[in-house]
Parts: sequence; structure tokens; C-alpha cells
Amino acid sequence: MKITVLGNNGPYPGPKGTCSGYLLQDNDVNIIIDFGNGTMSKLLQVCSVSDINAIILTHLHPDHISDIFILRYALKRRGIKIPLYAPSSPAEEFNRLQYEDVFEMHPIVEGKIAIEHLTVEFKKLKHIIDNFGISIKNARKKFVYTGDTSCEDCVVELADKADLLLIEAALLDKDLKKGLSHLSARQACEIGNRSGARQIILTHFNPDYDLTEYLSEVDNVFNGITQFAESLKSYYI
Ligand SMILES: [Zn+2]
Ligand SMILES: [Zn+2]
Repeated sequence: MKITVLGNNGPYPGPKGTCSGYLLQDNDVNIIIDFGNGTMSKLLQVCSVSDINAIILTHLHPDHISDIFILRYALKRRGIKIPLYAPSSPAEEFNRLQYEDVFEMHPIVEGKIAIEHLTVEFKKLKHIIDNFGISIKNARKKFVYTGDTSCEDCVVELADKADLLLIEAALLDKDLKKGLSHLSARQACEIGNRSGARQIILTHFNPDYDLTEYLSEVDNVFNGITQFAESLKSYYI
């Protein structure tokens, strides 16, 4: 499997940044996972819209879904219909996603489904609105992505022995008392250790912080190499 980062900022992008979005590729299967501001132009640098097999949205905050609203025009022009998996709550946001029938809508519920040859598991992870963490397995490897959450124990459970854990690390430790429903970079690394994940990639960086501020808080916390999601970089599982 291969994960390409389309965006790593939240809840808004920096001057050259894009918000949350990722492309998972395995054999000929291409799955978009979250699709925030600016991710469509990044996607088009690595994959054609016609080659997308499915879209999964972890939750319906704008920094994870904004470019869905323009992707719809490209799908319509090509006469393509794509399965879209998203939480059905908030209902108003869910109902806004569809446009001229370009999506085959699938409300996410906890449990397992198949997308082509891949097994996809959804698990609710506490956030301000419904957010589903995702585990995607092929015959040999397991990839896990959190979306946004503040729940450490739930992520540990979902990420059990993951080959790659892509985990939000929106906060610095000083932010933890603000009740922001996100994880700090240090917490994300500790979750990596507790879950037995082989590799972790931190993401969802606040553009108002310098990456070195995150770096200084995670030095030597994770037992392996702590990677920071970089736009358009691909990570292999
Ligand atoms: Zn977010
Ligand atoms: Zn969010």
C-alpha cells in the first residue's frame, strides 16, 4: 500500500498549505481519504479523477471535506459516479455532499466493509462531531488513520499492531487544557507506542505553529522513527 499526503494542515491552511487529505493506493485501487481545502489540485498531480474507486470522509468538518464540493463538477463532466462513505451526522452536512447524483452515498456505521480487495473497518473516535477512524487492510498490511479525535484509548484499540498509523497531532502540550478535541504530538507518539504501531506519521498541523515546535515535544517519545506528513510525499507500507 502507498499513502500520498494531499494536505496536512487544519483547521485552516498556511500560506502554501492544504488541509487534510490523503490518497491510498494498492494495486489498481485508489481511495481518497478526506478531501479538505486545496487537496484537489494536489490529487491531480498524482492521480486522475477517473481512476478514483471510492472516497471516505472521516467527519464533516470543512477542513476535511471542502474540495468535495468542487470535485463534484469534475465527476459530473466526466459522467462518473463514485461511492462516498461519510458519517450521516450532522445530517445537514451529509445531505449537502450529494450533487446531481455523482456520488453513491454510504452513511458510515461502525464495523467492516470491503472496497475492492481491501477490508475497511470504521470505529467511532470521539471528536466535536461524529468522526470515524479507519483501518484498511490488504492480505499483508494494516493502515490506520484517525481523522480528528481526542480519544487516546480508542485509537490505541483501532491501531493495534498497525504497519502504519497516520495520526492527527494538531496540538502542542500547552493546548491540551483548552478542550479542543484533538491530540497533541506527544500524545500521538505515546499512542504509537501503546498500539504497537510499526510506523507513525503525524499530521493536521496548526499553520500558526512552526513544525520545530512540534518536533521539540516528540523527541525520542515514539519507539521508532517519528515522521511528519509532508504534502505530496508518498509513504509505503
Ligand atoms: Zn480537522
Ligand atoms: Zn475536525
